[in-house]
Amino acid sequence: MILLVIYYAVVFFIFGLVFGSFYNVVGYRLPKKESLVFPSSHCTVCNHKLGALELIPVLSFLIQGGKCKHCKAKISWYYTIFELLTGLLFLFSYLRFGLTASCFISLVLASILVIVIISDYKYYIIPNEIIVIGIFLLGIGFFLEGGGAFSHFSWTRAWIRLFHSIQNGFLSFLLMYGVKLFGDFLFKKESMGGGDIKLMFLIGMSIGFPLSIISIFLASIIGLPIALVLLKLKSTHVIPFGPFLSVAALILFFLQWNWLDILLLFS
Ligand SMILES: [Zn+2]
Repeated sequence: MILLVIYYAVVFFIFGLVFGSFYNVVGYRLPKKESLVFPSSHCTVCNHKLGALELIPVLSFLIQGGKCKHCKAKISWYYTIFELLTGLLFLFSYLRFGLTASCFISLVLASILVIVIISDYKYYIIPNEIIVIGIFLLGIGFFLEGGGAFSHFSWTRAWIRLFHSIQNGFLSFLLMYGVKLFGDFLFKKESMGGGDIKLMFLIGMSIGFPLSIISIFLASIIGLPIALVLLKLKSTHVIPFGPFLSVAALILFFLQWNWLDILLLFS
């Protein structure tokens, strides 16, 4: 049993690294409406096309010492950070939920939020495509989770679970829209982007309605010190809220961990 758990844990982690590598591409290219496939990954300085070995997540970065093999230009460590983050989130998802529909929900949420963090931090854009795909996949996840085991799948419970998750998303969306209207009134200018409000639908769907309110507070608490540092580093006056909201949602989602389940996995 324990060997099997470790085997799956390693597989999930490696898949996370590989998917994270792809999410980098999506986060950097989708907001610019670029193709996700062409051109293939290349050095942004010398355009040298990356070979198979240079595409290995994390390891290639370490082996090459964080430099392009061809022109020795420094490669941003952001890519590696997001690969590792995705790997860890995939690993957590498996450890918490095992091979279940809930694990699928966890993987979808992690994937969408990683892409949102990359894209919103870099371009201040949360692509609509990502939100729509996320809501659709989460819907499938909640439907399957509600229905239970395939051997005695309950269609009624499946539809109820799906309806509840959409209701949670909608209430969170409305609340965030209210916060925005209040902010606009208070500051006499656009206080929040439309992306954050749409993102809230997805977060509410995943972590539930009352809890999604906490994510807004938690995001502000996490965001404030980081925003102060970024304002100095990035020489900009705009700090996107989406990445903080995403991190807060992930923390709250995984805090619902039942630690006993994890111990049972290893027994
Ligand atoms: Zn290069």
